Amino acid sequence: MPLIIISGLPTSGKSTRARQLEAYLRARIEGSEASGTSASGPPKYRLHVVSDDSLAISRAVYDLSSVPAHARSANASEKDARAAIYGSVKRVLSDRDIVILDGMNYIKGWRYQLHCEAKAVRTPSVVLQIGCDPEKAKGVNEERLRRRAEQEGATDEDEQKGPAEKGEALPEGYAPANWENLVFRYEEPNPMTRWDSPLFALVWDDGEERTKQVFDQLWDAIAGKGAKS
Ligand code: ADP
Ligand code: MG
Repeated sequence: MPLIIISGLPTSGKSTRARQLEAYLRARIEGSEASGTSASGPPKYRLHVVSDDSLAISRAVYDLSSVPAHARSANASEKDARAAIYGSVKRVLSDRDIVILDGMNYIKGWRYQLHCEAKAVRTPSVVLQIGCDPEKAKGVNEERLRRRAEQEGATDEDEQKGPAEKGEALPEGYAPANWENLVFRYEEPNPMTRWDSPLFALVWDDGEERTKQVFDQLWDAIAGKGAKS
């Protein structure tokens, strides 16, 4: 692949970093082709981003508040969502494809499974953890819920308007109990385990310079001389 597993709390800035990383990697891939490392052949890497949004998976699949406690580990909708994500990662799995998996990826057993999948095709996997103060992330979620509710109110009144006048679809928020529960369930990556390493991290306030440093290190780990599967 190589596989880049993003991990972090709900509404903590994961997709923002995924977009920055995508732009960075696109430039790096073009740069390494221009410098002649794969001058004659096809491009060395293709780039893919897989996320709940790219697969149209609703935030509601993670909601356990309506599931009885004894059935929680078997939450069917979340299992289906994971199967869809897994299938979509696996479809593009190769040593020529870089996959950014943008999501919470909060279960360590799940990250282990993804790591093994990468290993099976002899390509590296890394984890990029997005650090964010839970209070800040909560604020982002509340803002999303508020704006969505406002838009829905406006849509009812503007029934006659076309989609363009209604404005673009706003990002989906998590129901408050779902958000709280996901934060509680989050299993922090541990760099001492092989499936969570190498582990890179960015926090909310990391600016351009720090972000570039981390992305440079990440590039070395997936495409540099020391890259190992
Ligand atoms: P997630 O994918 O984890 O749900 P997003 O990346 O969609 O989170 O970010 C949620 C909101 O927070 C967006 O409005 C985004 O613009 C803002 N945001 C995310 N990361 C940062 C950051 N590092 N600095 C400032 N604002 C950010
Ligand atoms: Mg997101």
